[in-house]
Amino acid sequence: MSFRNRLRFEHRLAALVGLLCLALVGATVGGAIWLERRSALRLAEDRLARLADGMAGSLDTTLRERFREIQVVAGLAPLRERWTTDPAATRGILTAMRTTAPDYAWLGFVAPDGRVRAGTEGMLEGVAVSGRTWFEIGLTRPNVGDVHEAVLLSRLLVRAEPEPLRLVDLAAPVRDAGGAVIGVLGGHLSWDWASRVRRRLLDEGRPGTDLWVLDRNGRVILGPRLGAEPFGPARLGAMTEAGRGVFAAEIAGETRLAGFASAATGERSGVAGGDPGLGWIVVATLPEAQALAPVQPSLRALLGLGAAVALLGIALAWSLGRRAAAPLRQLTAALDRIGPDADATSLPRLDGAREFGALSAALHALLRRIGTAERELSDATLRSTSVAASYRRQIEDLRQVAGTDMLTGLRNRRGFVKPAAEAFAQARGGRCGVAVLVVDVDHFKRVNDRYGHDAGDAVIRHVGTLLAEAVRGTDTVARFGGEEFVVLLVGLDGAEAAQIAERLCVKVRAAEIAHGGRIVAVTVSIGVATVSVRDPDIQAAIARADAALYDAKARGRDRVGIAVAREEAGRAA
Ligand code: GH3
Ligand code: MG
Ligand code: MG
Repeated sequence: MSFRNRLRFEHRLAALVGLLCLALVGATVGGAIWLERRSALRLAEDRLARLADGMAGSLDTTLRERFREIQVVAGLAPLRERWTTDPAATRGILTAMRTTAPDYAWLGFVAPDGRVRAGTEGMLEGVAVSGRTWFEIGLTRPNVGDVHEAVLLSRLLVRAEPEPLRLVDLAAPVRDAGGAVIGVLGGHLSWDWASRVRRRLLDEGRPGTDLWVLDRNGRVILGPRLGAEPFGPARLGAMTEAGRGVFAAEIAGETRLAGFASAATGERSGVAGGDPGLGWIVVATLPEAQALAPVQPSLRALLGLGAAVALLGIALAWSLGRRAAAPLRQLTAALDRIGPDADATSLPRLDGAREFGALSAALHALLRRIGTAERELSDATLRSTSVAASYRRQIEDLRQVAGTDMLTGLRNRRGFVKPAAEAFAQARGGRCGVAVLVVDVDHFKRVNDRYGHDAGDAVIRHVGTLLAEAVRGTDTVARFGGEEFVVLLVGLDGAEAAQIAERLCVKVRAAEIAHGGRIVAVTVSIGVATVSVRDPDIQAAIARADAALYDAKARGRDRVGIAVAREEAGRAA
């Protein structure tokens, strides 16, 4: 029997429904988890994009404002005379500018020869800055330079920030009324400003979020890994191309979601005269695991709920299976009882599904048919038994008749065979002595002749009765034919048999047989022989008794002749 066939009905059903439940719940929960994950990732990406956008916008706005300011102040007509003639007044203007925009590390006016004429708080005054890009370009047009580390100012300024002072240079030419360049107004915007914006935005954002500003070459100019190049040229190109978007990438050994936005392009910063801008890209990133952290509890709850539903389904299926199988078990038990228990013949009426009702009805009908067949069989058996018994009785009767002499009611030769064989077996076994008497009525022909055949019959019957009454129940008397009888005597020796023979002679002689109003008197002669252990059969003893009978006849009749025992005969020979 295979394992499957050994499973009980409810277990099979539970297993099947359990699998179904698992599949359904698995698909549903899996789908829900996937949707939940996807929306969490979308949400996080969206936030990152907005964060990057916010950072880029903030950088743009400040840079644009500062740049405009520089240009406006450089172009102010009332100040034209002052720039070259009144360094104190110029210093005052610059200091006022720095007060309104504290992000400036330094502001200064540089003469066309490259020497600083006036600086905020007098810083760098008299120092030559010719050769600096911002100054050289500033002689011809307004410009903004990319972030760089401060050289001279880092020694002069006292700052709270631990990292080295980095600056964004802004410059615009100052012209006289005729349009000739009389100097350059320059400003060094401290990059600390961008760091502060970054920190503020990160504080507002989700834990784990990071915010980087990359220069046009993809190098980090703001963020924890300064100077690193976290993205390859392909990704960088794609970001520059798109301007704004989201992606997921393997960064520093973990999967991070990223939102990006380009900042300070020439157009956005409002830089005039075809200036290509600085091409910064702001990238906000968050590890994917962190993005999914808020939905983790609900994902776990979904999984738990799914498992609970599957378990509930299995339990329900199991209990349903039990209930469904109960009538079948009941029926099986009843059928089991019907075999060994003769009294159990009825089946329970099954309720439940229609099939069960039909099954029990069919079994009912089957049992009824079996019952009828059994009854018919037992009747037939009974009948055949009584017929056989009657045959046996008839056969017994016939056997009885066949072994019985009709005239006397004694055994005949045939009826003598069985008791003779048994007695012979006993004698052969030496268990007891057995003797045979052969009895013959003397001159019987004369009886027939004188009194008639019927009288002869009466004499035969009378002598038979006398013999039967004279011996014990264990002895056997048989009529061998005519007026000749054989008596089988069991449990005595030759001498005792001779005595019995003598007594029989006397009895017959003394008997008065009445027939037809007359008394008939007869005598008998008897030959006696004992069965020897060396006799081949009883017939040998009968033959010896017969010889002794003829001897008795010869000696005058109405007497007993005793056969010489076989042993003695042997010895005599
Ligand atoms: P013995 O003393 O030598 O025996 O002389 P016996 O006349 O008896 O001689 P035997 O035995 O030869 O004769 C038997 C006679 O018995 C012969 C026969 O007619 C007669 N007999 C045989 N059977 C029956 C029978 O059934 N009924 C009658 N009535 N007579 C029979
Ligand atoms: Mg005779
Ligand atoms: Mg005779």
